[in-house]
Amino acid sequence: MKTFDPANKIQDLQYFGEFGGVNPSISDSSTYTFLTAKTMFDAFEGNAEGCYLYSRHASPSNLYLGQALAAMEGTETANVAASGMGAITTALLQLCGAGDHVISSRTIYGGTYAFLKNFTPKLGITASFVDITKLDVVEAAITPNTKVIFCETVSNPLLEVADIGSLAKIAKKHNLKLLVDNTFSPLSVAPAKLGADVVIHSLTKFINGSSDTVGGVTCGTQEFIDALRNVNDGAAMLLGPTMDSLRAASIMKNLRTLHIRMKQHSHNAQYLAERFENDGLKTVYPGLASHPSHDLYKSMINPEYGFGGMLTIDAGSLDKANELMELMQHRNLGYLAVSLGFYKTLFSAPGSSTSSEIPMEEQKEMGLTDGLIRFSIGLDNDIERTYQMMKECMEAVGVLAKAETV
Ligand code: PLP
Repeated sequence: MKTFDPANKIQDLQYFGEFGGVNPSISDSSTYTFLTAKTMFDAFEGNAEGCYLYSRHASPSNLYLGQALAAMEGTETANVAASGMGAITTALLQLCGAGDHVISSRTIYGGTYAFLKNFTPKLGITASFVDITKLDVVEAAITPNTKVIFCETVSNPLLEVADIGSLAKIAKKHNLKLLVDNTFSPLSVAPAKLGADVVIHSLTKFINGSSDTVGGVTCGTQEFIDALRNVNDGAAMLLGPTMDSLRAASIMKNLRTLHIRMKQHSHNAQYLAERFENDGLKTVYPGLASHPSHDLYKSMINPEYGFGGMLTIDAGSLDKANELMELMQHRNLGYLAVSLGFYKTLFSAPGSSTSSEIPMEEQKEMGLTDGLIRFSIGLDNDIERTYQMMKECMEAVGVLAKAETV
């Protein structure tokens, strides 16, 4: 028997809704009554177990979803937010104040990068962006003011892999918190089990999986999540990125099929990555032996869920990348759209979209080329058919040479 199966952990939770419903009832209220004024006072003081106060603080539907996500990540509890950025920014602001310093991977989602580069300095919080795969560089960047190491398990968009176990050891040694954005690798990797202190997801992506909402979650200790929600100085409570109860209930229902979807995303991405690489395309996918961190990632993942649904190819130039993406969309192979984790394949050129917040010079330095296309591979039933159709598009625009006909 496996020691930690995140899908079992989700399924082992049992809910009975009001009236015996098989789904928990949705709490359609922003505020809650108290039978006595004394209980209301106790609730504000955080001393009224089981009582709800106001939905920006907590709501039953959000707690149900948080509980399921905490079970998935193996943390004590979790706080659901209205977006991934709502989870990331509040976690960082809870841990850091004026004068503090963050060490961040340099290849992260453009919004997180912009937050640490342009926004937190206004509050006196500074960041150093480092190559997270170089542990000596990470350790050398630590200053007496460093509070947090931030990284993505598999980075957006370059698909670099963070060695979470080793980063956790560095964090512990220097008394820092390790925050890991696990958006690209739900179920495959359980960062808290590898030593991360806080695990964050944009629920917008694979976890919800239907591209119909944004959402986020912060998973951590009861102490940290209580601090986030504290009515006096909790960043989540005071900045207010609160998810609506109706949406929490719908994400919870989608979470129930995540294990099936992740297997198919990974299966399809592995298939395409192998074919593309074999055709001579510069392909990056953690499941390829050519990926610089393939062996490390293999040692970190729960193999049942594979190497994930994200891959990149280099089309050579932005013009070629755009031409290819437009043709693939025209032939209904997917959508030219940002985001990920949809049933249909999504593709975009990150240099001019999701990573455009990163200055050109820095993009170059980190290896983010103009012609890079990021694919979130969909749930296609017949991936061989998809491959053939994609190959035809690549040949039509000259990204791949046309096969010789005899
Ligand atoms: N983290 C990663 C890895 C992302 O790709 C994104 C969005 O693209 C975010 C966080 C932000 O999430 P949201 O758009 O839900 O705020």
